[in-house]
Formats: sequence, C-alpha cells, structure tokens
Amino acid sequence: MPLLLIFLINYSEAKKSISINKLRYSTYQTHTRVVLDLDGSAEFTRNRLTNPDRIFFDLKNCTLPSKDKTVSVNNGTLNSIRMAQYDSKTVRVVLEVNDIRKYSVFTLEDPNRLVIDIYNGKNKKRAKKDSKSRGKVLADKNKYKIKRVVIDPGHGGRDPGAVGPRGTREKDIVLRVGKKLGKLLKKDGVEVIFTRDRDKFVPLNERTEIANSKKADLFISIHTNASKKRKTRGMETYFLSWSNDREAIKVAARENKVSIKKMQKMQGGLSMILQDLARNSKREESKRLAYSVQSEMVNSLKRDYNKIHDLGVKYALFYVLVGAEMPSILVEISFISNRDEEKRLATNKYRDRIAKAIAKGIDNYISKSTLIVNPDVRGLPSG
Ligand SMILES: [Zn+2]
Repeated sequence: MPLLLIFLINYSEAKKSISINKLRYSTYQTHTRVVLDLDGSAEFTRNRLTNPDRIFFDLKNCTLPSKDKTVSVNNGTLNSIRMAQYDSKTVRVVLEVNDIRKYSVFTLEDPNRLVIDIYNGKNKKRAKKDSKSRGKVLADKNKYKIKRVVIDPGHGGRDPGAVGPRGTREKDIVLRVGKKLGKLLKKDGVEVIFTRDRDKFVPLNERTEIANSKKADLFISIHTNASKKRKTRGMETYFLSWSNDREAIKVAARENKVSIKKMQKMQGGLSMILQDLARNSKREESKRLAYSVQSEMVNSLKRDYNKIHDLGVKYALFYVLVGAEMPSILVEISFISNRDEEKRLATNKYRDRIAKAIAKGIDNYISKSTLIVNPDVRGLPSG
C-alpha cells in the first residue's frame, strides 16, 4: 500500500503542468534581475547562442497561460525577454542580452520562482558614468552619513516563524522590535523603510528588492532563533556567505523554510553568486555591521539581564539577504524556543532594550564608516 501511494503521488506530480504566472524584471547598478513566478517547482535547461547574444531556458512540463509574450527592456544589458510555448510541454524563455559579464540562474520556493541575474559587462559607458556619480554620492554621505535604512521584521501573515513553548510567535515579536528600532533611527534623522509594518506575508526575495529599489544604505533583518534543544539560548548576528558550519546551516534552513539537505544542495547552485559576493566589498561592510550590532546587543543587555549568551557573528546562506546591494545583516535576537528567553521576549522592556542596542550598534557602525571611507581627508567637520 505505501508503495502504491508513492507511485500515485509521483504520477500525479508528473502530470501536473506548471504555469508561468508572472514575468518581472528590475534593473540594478551591477545587474538586471528577471523573475518568473511559477505555480510549482520547474526543471529547466539553459543554453547560450551568439549573433545576437542570447541566453535561453527551456522549462520542462510547463505551460504559458496566455499567448507568447515579448517584453522590451533595452536597459543596456538586457534588450528583450521572449516567452513561447516551444512544444506542448516546454516553455522557452529567451533573453536577448548585450555586453554581459556573466549570468546566474537559480530557483526559489514559497512562492516558486526562477530567478535570472545578468551582470553588466565592463565596457559599459553607462557603468563608467555610474562609478563617477557614485564617488560623488559617497562624498555626500560623509557629511550626512547613512541616510536610509530598511528594517525587515521576519515572517508575517500566514508564516508565523518559530513558535515558543507558551505560544509566542516570532512574527509578532520581531514586528514590535522592528517598529521600535524604526522609531529610534528616525529620531536620529535616518529615513526608515519597512519591508512590512503589519502582520502581512512578504516573500523573501521581495524584501531585498524593496531595499534595492529604494536604494537603501543598510538592510537589517530581525528574527528570533529556535532550537529543538530547549536549553539553547543567546544572541547571534549573521551576514550572507557560503557556510560549512552545520549549526549555521540549520538556522538558515529554518529561516529559508527548506530542509537542511536542500540547503546544502542550494549552496552549490548559488556558488557563483557567492563567489561574486566574496569579492564584493559589501561582504566586509556587512561583517563589520554584524560585529557592531552583535557586541552592542550583548554588552548592553548584560547590564540588566543575567545569562545573556554571546553566540557571536556567523555567516550562512539566507535567501532574504541574497541580492542585497547594501551592507545587510540578519539578527537572531534571542531563542523563542527557550522558556526564559520567550518570557523576556514577551515583555516591552526586553524588546525595547534590544531595539535600542541594535540602533546603537548601527550608529557605531555609521560613525566608524565615516572615518574609514574618507581616510585621506583631514579637518572635516565632525558630526
Ligand atoms: Zn525567523
């Protein structure tokens, strides 16, 4: 009977055709991202042809709900996107590109989607212009420091996040901490953008897309931790990187809502992005931001609370941080699975103290950034 059941499930899965619900794209300074929203997880093959330079993907067992579609983009990197029903079971997506350095493709879940990133070539006139104006923006930033911060309270809506032994939900706690943090940063004259400011479901990729499209200077994702070992407690801060550490992978798998096995497989698929990330200065900045927030959190909470465990700064592959173009961190403020920490998280006082500590950590990071990005200029007014 179980065998038959398995066969039936596989059979029905194989029969179910996946459709492409939506096609979207966004242009960033370094790359263009194309996203296909699907109603299931699709297998695909990829290929590249020259004259004209184009990349195409064949999505298997897939149908287009409407007629063939062509979208003109013409942003210097991506000319157009064409989608067509290649045969009864295959949809072909063709990206006509222009002077690109490389591209990467990966799938994400919940909701299912295929993400294609196309990186600008080096010989772009546009890119040269960008880097000049970027230098100017940086100079301005020295005067005004960091202007815009995105606060990302984890989970929300149909996704409660981790739930404590007394029923406290991660999504409610992190929303409150996030809002408090927002108030504190606004008082400091920083513009704050929330990925959600109420109990609402926001897909993981949309969260960094909000940050990128609003050209935010920092991205702060707030979560509570959970462990099957109820005794585990403490605070830790993450930045995005490839990881071999089993505990870090576990945390990332939970936040990404995938299995640990899948996490490991995913890391392989994303290795190109992560290699790019390793060369990217944002990684060093993210690391510095993570250390600043983590140490402020641990040190300030220790003054009023006992048993504040410093689990340190770690790195892992968090979906929500993939593609962020600014320094970005994910803070696990405490363990909701630990009875004592759950009790603390349920109080205003503890949440306020954490929000204050994160704000102070960001502040410390910003004041040090000002010194570091402008080491040659002396006699600049401080403030
Ligand atoms: Zn979480």
